Amino acid sequence: MARIVFINIPARGHTNPTLALVKELVQRGETVIYYSFNEFKAAIEATGAEFRSYDQTLSIDPDAPDPNIFRFATQLLETAQILVPQLLPRVKADNPDVIIHDSLSSWGLYIARILKVRAICSTTTFAISSQVAVSSAADVMRFLRMIMAAPGSIFHFRRIANHLRRKYRVAPRVQADMFRNDSDLNIVYTSSAFQPFSDSFPKHYRFIGASIEEPPPSDFPLPPAKKRVYVSLGTLFNNNLPFFKTCFDALSGLDAHVVMSVGKKIAIDDLGTIPPNISVHSFVPQLDVLRQSDVFITHGGMNSVHESLWYGVPMVVVPQAADQMFVANRVESVGAGICMTNDDVSVNRIRTAVETLLSSASHKEISRRIGQSLRDAGGFHKAADEIQKFIAG
Ligand code: UDP
Repeated sequence: MARIVFINIPARGHTNPTLALVKELVQRGETVIYYSFNEFKAAIEATGAEFRSYDQTLSIDPDAPDPNIFRFATQLLETAQILVPQLLPRVKADNPDVIIHDSLSSWGLYIARILKVRAICSTTTFAISSQVAVSSAADVMRFLRMIMAAPGSIFHFRRIANHLRRKYRVAPRVQADMFRNDSDLNIVYTSSAFQPFSDSFPKHYRFIGASIEEPPPSDFPLPPAKKRVYVSLGTLFNNNLPFFKTCFDALSGLDAHVVMSVGKKIAIDDLGTIPPNISVHSFVPQLDVLRQSDVFITHGGMNSVHESLWYGVPMVVVPQAADQMFVANRVESVGAGICMTNDDVSVNRIRTAVETLLSSASHKEISRRIGQSLRDAGGFHKAADEIQKFIAG
């Protein structure tokens, strides 16, 4: 059986969808050696993979990436420049048949190229192409503004790329390469129905659907309710007390039960009086709650959006950071929800959006249909099939 080295970045959103896949590969008899940070050791070891730590200070914060993507691309390349020489001898000693790397972890791809080992890219967000990234005049303007704001960073990018090319004969051509790291096979954890411009991607991109392993029903207490609304801003960018208070005011009079997961950075007492139809928690078993919900108010993290669609639940998406604006726009443009910025949030707008979605058959039907596409694409089983076929081929 094959020896697979998996190199990921230390971000939960980039790790979670890989866990069921790695478990499946191990159960099929493959050896998986998984490089990540200590924070993820227990979750990775629970899959049966061998964990290798490369915990250290990075030039990037994967959980709070620089919003200027030209600066962020340079930070990613600086990280590669540091990590390639450190990881190269370790990965060489692992003697892999194939290297799977995250779509932001160019160092995994470069190590594969240097060792002449075939590579697979693991993409937990949407796959990126120029068409996906720049689809409107507003996008062009946004990119131009970012270039103007980061001139030093763009020169620095070229300097590092030249250095890597001279030393290892590997380097990105352009900044956008840092976000796609196109490999010999690209596993993308969404469906072709949800991926923007999926038809424009070449054949070595496989849209395998959502990598979701449904847990058995939990004993989390949910009172019977005619309608249920679930509110969460995920686990990272959730320290937004005013947002949750606005949701109290918007949803308190609603003929629905509301479950709110406010995260671990907010003390529930700081929220003041909790309306009788709302229950507030620091963390909930989200899949279980979504399975029994009618509308989800979410920040638009890719995992949360997939999980909502998985159960056919339409969304009000209020992006907080990172790629969430992009995901939010996609939810709205396919008709699975309503998107609003933090600046747009008000009691009236939240209330109106929730009421609209509670009574909209079309949003529900589209969410269900895209959710079905995420299931039908095969998920982690399909990803494991593709990887084994690739290794055998
Ligand atoms: N989650 C959960 N319970 C909560 C809040 C979040 O289980 O109360 C899980 C959720 O199911 C999802 C992940 O945390 O799998 C959040 O990932 P996402 O990509 O949506 O957002 P992030 O937290 O990375 O911003």
